[in-house]
Amino acid sequence: MTLLTDDPVAAMRDRHREAAAGLPYTRVSGHRIGGVETTATSPVTSPVVDPATGEEWGSVPEADEAVVDAAVAAARAAQPQWAARAPSERADLLRRMADAVERRADVLSITNTLENGSPVSETAGAAANAASILRVFASLASHLEAGDVRAFPTGGAETVVAQDPIGVAALIAPWNFPINLVVIKLAPALVAGCAVVIKPAGPTPLSIRFLLDAADEAGIPPGVINLITGEGATGELLVRHPGIDKVAFTGSTPVGRRIAAACGELLRPVTLELGGKSTALVLPDADLDAMSKVLIRSSMRNTGQTCYISTRLVTTPDRYDELVDMVTATVAAAPVGDPLDPSTVFGPVATFAQRDRVLGYIRAGVAEGARATVGGDVPEPIPGGAFVAPTVFADVTPDMTIAREEIFGPVITLLRADSIDAAVDIANDTPFGLGGIVFGGDEDAAFRIARRMDTGSVGVNMFASNHYAPFGGRHDSGLGVEYGLEGLAAYLTPQSVHRRVR
Ligand code: NAD
Repeated sequence: MTLLTDDPVAAMRDRHREAAAGLPYTRVSGHRIGGVETTATSPVTSPVVDPATGEEWGSVPEADEAVVDAAVAAARAAQPQWAARAPSERADLLRRMADAVERRADVLSITNTLENGSPVSETAGAAANAASILRVFASLASHLEAGDVRAFPTGGAETVVAQDPIGVAALIAPWNFPINLVVIKLAPALVAGCAVVIKPAGPTPLSIRFLLDAADEAGIPPGVINLITGEGATGELLVRHPGIDKVAFTGSTPVGRRIAAACGELLRPVTLELGGKSTALVLPDADLDAMSKVLIRSSMRNTGQTCYISTRLVTTPDRYDELVDMVTATVAAAPVGDPLDPSTVFGPVATFAQRDRVLGYIRAGVAEGARATVGGDVPEPIPGGAFVAPTVFADVTPDMTIAREEIFGPVITLLRADSIDAAVDIANDTPFGLGGIVFGGDEDAAFRIARRMDTGSVGVNMFASNHYAPFGGRHDSGLGVEYGLEGLAAYLTPQSVHRRVR
């Protein structure tokens, strides 16, 4: 395409319009239930807005009660036959699905970027990551093949502990990683033998369709995976539906509490992956050059919209100024711009509401006395989009709002602690307990400090998810875990069959 303008904002808009015009899913009029595209029963639709330009480029229907009923009924109809298949057969289908997802990597990436502004440098890996999760859970299917036999302590009898699928699962996802945060639930559910109903977040309802296409291509039977779109009211109908046996939710802590209350009343098993406010603890012997190379990914990944990132950096006074200089220089050097440009590190935040929320926190930081060394309450970097200038706050104290609440935008805070013990106390003085990192030259000493962090996951000089290891939050960051055998267990219900030893 020849750009007809020298105006970079207009050029970006043209590039995005052209990208959207080439996508298979833009204006969708139904839901995906029982393997077919259904007609929406409600006239209400939600727009899909490109946060880089503010332009609407797609829309989806809002599922009402009739649609939720139909999706749950389709899942319930498919469930028995899916559960009756051998785990190894389900695993083979997951592996085929993984290959089919990878074949859709490009179109999935562009759709995801236009939905939530995640830079393509991030979304380009979404299909490969999804495929990896599917393959890891396929590899865990062998654990379901035979019942585990346990002797009675008194002898003479034994118990076969068999695992049954927990039933039909509702999978409810947020908008920051719309593929990963569904696959992390879908893969264990499928291996366990559960049928599912997926409800993606309002801003990101389209990219998920490529997962369903991949499942169809792989031969996963119709009705095993159903997709309905809508906002919180649709999610609430799904959570409370009598045909749902388990709820898996990733999202904010307030909504998680509401879902937990509903599930408590209904005695319905629930997994909750919620918000966070994690800390990077920088020890006196930390290598700041090495840290600068992982800083953006570990503390501001996805334009700061990642649940586990360590957005509070705490160090002792001897390293504080050096840390402020390194962090300021690293963030200032990271390109902000068109999320479709592969060199972009910071795109827009996902929605205009999120931009306003993040700007509110930046203003609170300034008002409470923090010092912005880069960014701050400045004009938006690119007009017309939901852009926020990446911001580093120094001279932050633990009681400031920006040190305590989850901002979910490109903002990090730098705190001083009098000692390593005081730094650990600051790290643990939060209602959340999701992630964290310890940066230190002596990795054994750093590991010992890591074990003192009261969080579900913590890294030493790095942070990454291991699909074989549990991931979850403590305290206000959630209930239960995802990934690994522990994540698979959330979709299983054991049956103990006692018998005499023959
Ligand atoms: P959100 O809680 O507003 O929405 C999440 C999902 O829940 C959406 O699909 C939404 O439509 C649905 N929903 C809203 N109200 C509902 C209700 N009453 N009943 C059922 N469903 C309802 O979260 P968000 O703004 O989309 O995502 C950002 C939040 O997600 C952040 O707090 C972030 O930390 C958290 N998050 C956590 C993890 C984790 O693994 N712990 C991962 C990513 C994001």
